[in-house]
Order: sequence, then C-alpha cells, then structure tokens
Amino acid sequence: MSQQKFNKTRFDAALTRQWQHLGLTSAQQMTPHQWWQALSSVLAEMLAAQPPAPPKQGQRHVNYLSMEFLIGRLTGNNLLNLGWYNDVQAALAEHQVELSELLEEEVDPALGNGGLGRLAACYMDSMATVGQAAMGHGLNYQYGLFRQTFADGQQQEAPDDWQRDRYPWFRHNAALDVQVGIGGKVKENHDGSLQWRPNILLKGEAWDLPVVGYRNGITLPLRLWKASSAQPFDLTAFNNGQFLQAEQQGIEADKLTKVLYPNDNHAEGKRLRLMQQYFQCACAVGDILRRHHLAGRAIRSLPDFEVIQLNDTHPTIAIPEMLRVLLDEHQLSWDDAWHITSRTFAYTNHTLMPEALERWDERLVRDLLPRHWLIIREINRRFKKRVKQQWPGDKAMWHKLAVVAEGQVRMANLCVVSCFAVNGVAALHSELVVKDLFPEYHQLWPNKFHNVTNGITPRRWLKQCNPLLSTLIDDSLQVEWANDLDALAWLAPFARKKTFRQQFRAIKQQNKQRLTLYVKRLTGIDINPDALFDVQIKRLHEYKRQHLSLLHMLHCYRQLRDNPDNPDFVPRVFLFGAKAAPGYYLAKNIIYAINKVAEVINNDPRVGDRLKVVFIPDYRITAAELMIPAADLSEQISTAGYEASGTGNMKLALNGALTIGTLDGANVEIAQAVGEKNIFIFGNSVDEVKALKAVGYSPKKLRKHHPYLDGLLKELEKGKFSEGDKHAFDLMLHSLTKSGDPWLVLADFDAYIAAQQQVEALWKNPEAWTRAAILNTAHTGRFSSDRSIRDYQQLIWQAAR
Ligand SMILES: *Cc1c(COP(=O)(O)O)cnc(C)c1O
Repeated sequence: MSQQKFNKTRFDAALTRQWQHLGLTSAQQMTPHQWWQALSSVLAEMLAAQPPAPPKQGQRHVNYLSMEFLIGRLTGNNLLNLGWYNDVQAALAEHQVELSELLEEEVDPALGNGGLGRLAACYMDSMATVGQAAMGHGLNYQYGLFRQTFADGQQQEAPDDWQRDRYPWFRHNAALDVQVGIGGKVKENHDGSLQWRPNILLKGEAWDLPVVGYRNGITLPLRLWKASSAQPFDLTAFNNGQFLQAEQQGIEADKLTKVLYPNDNHAEGKRLRLMQQYFQCACAVGDILRRHHLAGRAIRSLPDFEVIQLNDTHPTIAIPEMLRVLLDEHQLSWDDAWHITSRTFAYTNHTLMPEALERWDERLVRDLLPRHWLIIREINRRFKKRVKQQWPGDKAMWHKLAVVAEGQVRMANLCVVSCFAVNGVAALHSELVVKDLFPEYHQLWPNKFHNVTNGITPRRWLKQCNPLLSTLIDDSLQVEWANDLDALAWLAPFARKKTFRQQFRAIKQQNKQRLTLYVKRLTGIDINPDALFDVQIKRLHEYKRQHLSLLHMLHCYRQLRDNPDNPDFVPRVFLFGAKAAPGYYLAKNIIYAINKVAEVINNDPRVGDRLKVVFIPDYRITAAELMIPAADLSEQISTAGYEASGTGNMKLALNGALTIGTLDGANVEIAQAVGEKNIFIFGNSVDEVKALKAVGYSPKKLRKHHPYLDGLLKELEKGKFSEGDKHAFDLMLHSLTKSGDPWLVLADFDAYIAAQQQVEALWKNPEAWTRAAILNTAHTGRFSSDRSIRDYQQLIWQAAR
C-alpha cells in the first residue's frame, strides 16, 4: 500500500460542511477550539472512507486486548503519519489559521495509567505501520486518569472528563453493538448441557478511533467499547412493578465505563473492575467471532485466522468467555473448545511484583460470572491431573501452580495454563519470568516462553515531538528513518564531526528553551537552560525510587552550602513528572517531600540558578512530548529486578539524553546498544539485591556507619523542609529505615552519588557529552516498536502452530 494523496477539494468541501453545521456563515467565525474540532472531523471523515487492509496471505489477524490505551493527542500525529501536515497547514493558512496553534486545543485522551497503556498505543501505531492486520480492543472511559495539581506541595486529584462524546475522531458503529450479560444463574438443559441466564443485560457500543500507519495508506481500528443499558429499562422488572429497580439498571450500565482505575503495577480486587474486565472481553470475543463467522469460516479454523494478545492479565476473562461461547452456544465438546481457545490466546506478562498479580475472590467470580466460574474450575480440574502426572504426590507443587486456590482465582496462572505463548517485555525480565515466577510451568512447556523487548514508536517519540532533531537527521542521512529506525546507526560517524556536534547541541538547547518557557508559564519558576536538565518522568512508585533522586537533591544542596563558591559545581535542574495513585499514600508522601524540598532550594538566595527543582504537574503524554527532547540526563533508577522493561528510558535515549540507571529492565539492553562509555550504570544488580535481602540488609546499621547520609535524612526528620513539622515525611522516612528499606534506596546511595559525579565530569566536557548523546540517538534504533511488532510476528503470531 502506498501513501494516500491529500485531496484539497474534498478537504475544503468537508470543512465548509463543518462550519455550516455549526450554524455559522463563514469559517472565520469559528473559535480556535471549533477549528480544531472541525479539522479533526474532516480528517476523520476522509479516513473513514478507507477500507481496512486485509491480512497478508497466511497472516493471522491480531486482536490486541488492553484495558488501557494511552494514545495522546491524535490530530497532529495522524497528520504526520498521513504525510498531510504541510498540505493542511497551507490549506488553513488561507484562512489565516495556524495549524500548530490549533493542535494545542486537543485534550489528551488519558485512557491509561502509564507505561502499559502507552505500550498498547505504540503497538497499534507500529502494527499499522508494518502492515500487520490488527484491531485494538479497549474501553471508552468517560473519565481518564485524574488531573493532578499541587496544593502546598500535596497532590490533588480532579476528575478528567475528556469530553468523549464530542471527540471528533470517534466513529460509533452501531451495527457492531453487542449484548453482554452479567450475574444470574446457570441452568441445566434437559440434555445435560448448561446455559447461563444472566440477570443484567448491557449494551456494548463500538466506538472506533483510526490508527494511521506511517505513509502507507493503512488505517487500523482501535475499538473502545462503551457500556449503556441494553433496553430503556428492564422489562421484567417493569412488569413486576419494580420501577425503581428498573431505573437503577440504566444507571448501573453507563457507570461501567465511567472511570479508569488509577492504579499502575497494582491490582485492585473491586467488583466494578472485574465487571469492566468482563464487559470488555465479552465485547471483544463477540466481535472477533462475528467477524470470523461473517467471513464464512468454520469455527474450528479460528486459530488459523485470529490471535488474541492479552496485554497483562487484565483481559484474561476473555479465555473462559471464549470457552463459554464455544461450549454453550456452538455446542462444541470441551476438547474441541479447549483446542481452539488455547491456540488463539497469547499472554504478555508485565510484572513479577506480587501486589500487581491479579487474584479474584472466587465468590465475586461466582456471583458475577457463574458460568465462567464453572469453566475456570474445569480448567483447574483438568490441569490438576497434568500436575499430578508430572509431580505425583507433591501437594506443595499443586498449591503453587493451581489456577484456583485459597478461595481465589489466579489470573496469571490461568493465562499460562491456557495460552500458547507467554512473553516478558525485556531480556532480563523474560529471564526472571522463567527463573523466578513460572519455573515449573517452564518445565512443563519450555517452548511456550518468549522474550519480546518493548519498543516505542519513532513517529510520535522523535519525529513529532522533536522536529528540530528530526530535520537534522533528515538532512544528514537523506534516508527515511521514521519507519526504519535502524538507519539511525548511520548517524554514529557524525558524532566525530565538530559542526554536527554543534548543530546537535544547539537543537538540544532550543528544546531546553522551549521547556523553560513552559515551566515558567506553568509554575512561575525560572530555570536556567544552560544547566544540566536531570529528568525523572514516570508513575510514582517506591520501586522506581524517585526518593533516591530526592536524596541526591539534598546532597547537591548540602554541597552548595558547604562550599558556596565552588566554581566546579555543575548547575542542575531536577525535573519531575509523576502521578501517584490516589490511595497510595506513601507515593503521595514522596511527591510532597520533593515539592517541599523544592520550595526551600528554589527560594534560597545562596543557591541562585545553580540548583532548581521543578515538579511539573499533571504528567501525561503531552508533557512527555515537551520534556523528553529537552532532557540531558534520563533517570532510570529502579531497584534491579522490578522494572519489567521501561519505555521512558527508550524515549529519552532516542532523543539524546544520557541514561543514569540500574541494570534493570531494558536498561540492560540500552547499555549494550549504546556502549558502556555512553551510559552511567550503577547500583546493586538483581543477584546482589537478592543476596542483600537474603542476609538481612539493615538500613539502620547502614545509617549508623554513614554519618553523611544520616545527616541528610536527619534534615528531613527535623522538619527543616517542612516548616518545623517533624512528621511531614514520616511515611517515606519510616519506609527508608524502620520498615527495612524494602527497595534498597539507602543501599544504592553511595553508588548513585558516585555515578552522578561521573555525570558531572562528562558534562564539563561539552564535546564529549554531545558525542555520547549523538551515539545514544544513533544506537537506539532497535527500540522502535516496529521491531517489537516484528518480533511478535516471528516468535508468536506467525510461528508454526
Ligand atoms: C512512556 C510513558 C510512561 C512510561 O514511563 P516509564 O519510565 O517506562 O515508566 C508513562 N507515562 C507516560 C505519559 C509515558 O509517555
């Protein structure tokens, strides 16, 4: 397929219809927001005329199931991928309208928490770009992740109503609406077969967003399901005279897709969350089978044509749902239904942390999904036989591997038992999935386990967010790199050219100036664009260790006070962006601590502009797009073994930031790619972390023997940064000492400070620093999500079955 041509006549005509539709007499009467709305509607209309690309010969169609798609603004990105940006810019200029200003009118559809949701969005972009026939299935939340502000340094959360009903990129395809049941009972038919009689019926509405491939004429649907009531009201309840109850149902129905749960790497066993999961899965399974049926294909051939990729365990309930439909509606035998299902589903694991592994109370499952509960029990019963065969008499083994145990359904186990493929998301993580999480399953099915290292789309994360650097790369390489990111390797020799280094540095400087203006406008804080921009942007979580960076901040402040006239002090701006889950009080306390320390440092006249700390509120895709091109240093400092991959690390390295990081997740592969001279690796490794924990690491002892670190912590304990309040940071400080410092923050402190000193040494040599930065951009091509998608194709989706 080739790029679609921009049709100016059609564009103008569609634009005219837009303002006429608003009841205006000319385009000039539109407000900027109406302009954005009109432009996006026009483009959506032009795209909707495109038929979806059929799968290539022998290619399975991919159904990517994810509870989150953190897509970011669409209008600018779609224009760029279509290759229509300049044409549209010119067409709008005829109306004296500036395209780049219009694009600022779009609110982020914040339909995800963090990395997992962003990954799903990057994968949609890449599947469209590499020509993988696919569809995304998710939920159309009315409220995305909350909007964050700070009040006296404390995180405040406000609902994020992103106005889904007026989002111009949506197309509601009413012909695809499905019915979803919940609750009720299972009845036995005369022939002994089972039938589910749900007592709640919902309607699933298919709302599609177009995912535009890079200049190849391909558009894939991202189908976000929205719940509404199946009937105006429940007729049986109405006939029984239970008006109130009937009303209630209508309210319940649209409650279902009202809010995104704000947790990242944490499972919440709430009833509504399970209802959301099932609703999405039932819609997706119904839709997949409808399409298969419509193509005139036999049900048994499903795995030859379709694959269902589960983004974490959140959509696992799709597995028993598929079995239910095959058993109860298609009347297949268990063996046939199982054979079909287990060759269709594949599972991506995203974490080893116990608190993030989903387990559902069996009573909840039985209540909401009585038929699925029976099916899960049957899977469990059959699998038990297999385990008994392999490990006769080993009760502990069964207890570990069971799908149902201790009154809970373990979703990760259900996935491994039922899927034909399981993958981790970086080489190290995939190794730990096999070694630590699922070693016995690996013994049973050694060929089931794979690694697919995560990736990021170079369209949004370089071409769109960093136009200056993109132009420099275009001019230097004279090849298309945006869909062939390995081509960036040709930049490596340019690192030796002085003029190229100057250009590269000047671009970083301009991006830093752009961010400096944004910071000023948003926070009122003046930062110095010549200082080192030290950036840590990601969800707030103990394992990500924003508080390790906080300790470094205290160290820098101390250095300045001890030696105020030190000419060697490297001016630095600490830039943070992070939301904490509203119920995660310790994470919120870390935000508070950073903000309070920032207040003192930023207002200390002795410091001047040599040290500043900025916590940018409401971190989201749009903020990331501004911060990443401006970063000098990328903080990737998780406790080794806990960050499955990370993708922020990739975005920052690609944009020429140097990484300071632990040997965790994809940092390991980034280090291999860019070379150890061009990255700052520090801290305890996975094995050292395990060893430390095994011998009983004691942060109290460490403090006792480390008066300097003890002194820094005491400043926090004494209320120096909290107007004398000695308990302001208790949650964080207790975790660091009394609770045993589970994330080894103090254990990595010295190594971290030493690595930061190496950072400063290199920073003082701008030519050497820029050289390393260029090599980061040149050698991160393999972290394109196009490569990830090709890995999925080869290892999982198209592999011999
Ligand atoms: C990339 C991205 C993330 C993931 O960042 P990590 O550092 O990998 O945790 C989270 N949020 C947003 C908005 C992102 O763009």
